[in-house]
Amino acid sequence: MSAQATAVGQPSTSAKKTRKRILTGDRPTGERHLGHYVGSLANRVKLQEEYETFLLVADYHMLTTRLQGLEEIERNIRQTVLGNLAVGVDPSKTTIYLQSLVPEVTELFLYFAMIVTVPRAQRIPTLKEQMRDLDIAQPSYGLLGYPVLQAADILMVKGDLVPVGRDQQSHVEITREIAREFNDRFGPVFPVPDALIPEIGILPGTDGRIKMGNSLGNVVNLLDDSKTVEAKVMAMYTDPTRIRATDPGRVEGNPVFMYHDFFNPDTAEVADLKDRYRKGSVGDVEVKRKLATAINGFLDPIRDRADRLLRENPRIVDEVLHQGTARARAEAKQTLHELRAAMHLDYFGQ
Ligand code: ATP
Ligand code: MG
Repeated sequence: MSAQATAVGQPSTSAKKTRKRILTGDRPTGERHLGHYVGSLANRVKLQEEYETFLLVADYHMLTTRLQGLEEIERNIRQTVLGNLAVGVDPSKTTIYLQSLVPEVTELFLYFAMIVTVPRAQRIPTLKEQMRDLDIAQPSYGLLGYPVLQAADILMVKGDLVPVGRDQQSHVEITREIAREFNDRFGPVFPVPDALIPEIGILPGTDGRIKMGNSLGNVVNLLDDSKTVEAKVMAMYTDPTRIRATDPGRVEGNPVFMYHDFFNPDTAEVADLKDRYRKGSVGDVEVKRKLATAINGFLDPIRDRADRLLRENPRIVDEVLHQGTARARAEAKQTLHELRAAMHLDYFGQ
């Protein structure tokens, strides 16, 4: 191990296979925000204590729906990794790697593409949803193959468990089918992975839309400074029917109170604000000020960790990615070696 590798820390290879493996991933869409935290990062930080975790930064996957603005991707990759480190994803427990630096996955994808029929790929419900949401008339060959590439991501590192939202359960299902089909035809190479579906809510956007998302421009980023957080919170959407502070307001479905529930640890304060909001005896300004304070309290240790990591090692993101990628690539080569042997494709010493 190089001096650099020791500085960042790497999962010990001796721990290999003694614990179940998790494969989890992020598309590099930009900074990590509160929605990512609620929906996946918080859980990921917990799971790394119990499982050997591989965290994929899925830049190939970005290309399935986006071919413009690609000059932003490198910055987005860095932000994605830094956001994960900031919330406590620990590179000594989690192997963080960049998909396109492990090109072996495309070879695995090719073999799997021979197993999956076109109608089977067309039956994945997320395909229709994406086409509708992104206004895509006809899917590209690559978009149709997106779940097959995801199967290659998972099976390349022989993942046993895949934390996904309920919406992505169908991707794990097709992965299970591919693993079974391969094993039946050629011999037992792959585990049949299980989806790990957390029961977590969706965090709405600051504009009141159902989901906070980078592409919607309605996010509070984990590394926003406190003034930015304050400005975003003070401009948040609340109950649109409430004109004056003395009007009774609606708490249910009000994003300001949903955020209070998620991020304000002072439950007595939240209960009091809700009560007064319903009665019309508190103004939006007070509710939002208290929310900004709570979110800033929540984000302080996250911002501090990012600052400290970068101060200690300005190249931390690059080093983590390079070391994680080397490790993931070794797994990929081993898996391909086993696969080619099982398929009798290990001719010419491959
Ligand atoms: P963005 O939606 O910000 O452009 P993205 O498309 O990479 O980023 P998704 O693919 O929507 O993000 O989600 C990545 C992970 O984060 C998923 O596990 C998803 O469930 C979770 N997530 C993202 N946004 C939210 C949210 N607003 N509430 C809860 N979970 C979320
Ligand atoms: Mg999204």
